[in-house]
Amino acid sequence: MDLSRFPRRCYTTTPTPLEFLPRFTAALGGPKVWIKRDDLCGLSPGGNKTRKLEFLVADALAQGADTLITCGAPQSNHCRITLAAAVKEGLRCRLVIEERIPGTFREDASGNHFLFRLYGVEHIDVVPAGTDMAAAMARVATDLQQQGRKGYVIPGGGSNALGGLGYVACAQELQQQLREQDVRPDRIFVGSGSSGTHGGLVAGCHAIGLDVPIVGIGVSRDPEQQEPLVLKEALAVLALLSVDRPLPADAVQCVGGYWQPKYSLPNPGMIEAVQLLARTEAVLLDPVYTGKAMAGMIDLYRREVFPRDETAVFLHTGGAPALFAYADVLRTGEA
Ligand SMILES: *Cc1c(COP(=O)(O)O)cnc(C)c1O
Repeated sequence: MDLSRFPRRCYTTTPTPLEFLPRFTAALGGPKVWIKRDDLCGLSPGGNKTRKLEFLVADALAQGADTLITCGAPQSNHCRITLAAAVKEGLRCRLVIEERIPGTFREDASGNHFLFRLYGVEHIDVVPAGTDMAAAMARVATDLQQQGRKGYVIPGGGSNALGGLGYVACAQELQQQLREQDVRPDRIFVGSGSSGTHGGLVAGCHAIGLDVPIVGIGVSRDPEQQEPLVLKEALAVLALLSVDRPLPADAVQCVGGYWQPKYSLPNPGMIEAVQLLARTEAVLLDPVYTGKAMAGMIDLYRREVFPRDETAVFLHTGGAPALFAYADVLRTGEA
């Protein structure tokens, strides 16, 4: 799969490491867990959004944009990494923050919000839960246009066909590492949110013939709502790649039950997973995505939904700065 026809910026020295986790594996009593360190992507500190932005920002530059516009929740990694990309490219950046849980946007917040200010965001619009975010971002673009500027709107999570190419690139990288390191995984686990990562990975693995089941652990929706989103993303990416071979019916697999009580709110499984990875491997997960995704993986093996003698690859999508906004709950261990 040749991605060179798509304009691309480079923000990471690849490949990101694929590492075995011996102490975590021993603590669980199986499966053998490998971790793909996309938390070590560029843009200080980066994550899955870094890969998507390589293609999205290249498109913004090709269109002559001077400002990136995007949206997310008050502790959005995506907003923070988009802003970092803007800084690196000499662009400006405006954010629309959806206060999904009333009262959770605070100017004195730590974590990603602190980094919004440190990276010098131009402006933040805070809007209430349920706002039409596409319309809110379009209004920002219109305002800029009236000032003779040009905004480029990036959808939430950077999840469209172009952004999904980042995870086609990741699938290629992973395929080569699995060969070189002689790892034969039975399953790949990934957090599934706005769906660009999961959908891009499904499309990428299909396009290159990497035939390993992918389990998407929902961070905000149960499978009935999440699977159609991921399928739509995967099909959009495959169309962009001109891959006609039909996707197998079971290519998109989601698991629910680990994101409750609500997107971004802590639960006991997340706290256990974050603490366990920190204390066995010195790997920092995050409270909103990878902590819940890892809690799901741990539980699925404990309940032997999947056999414990498997080999699993967990895709670490980043997000550690948000830990600092959840310090109290992680210190006390009470969700
Ligand atoms: C955004 C994000 C996800 C979810 O990825 P999507 O492409 O939105 O599904 C997972 N982990 C982290 C750390 C994220 O910031």
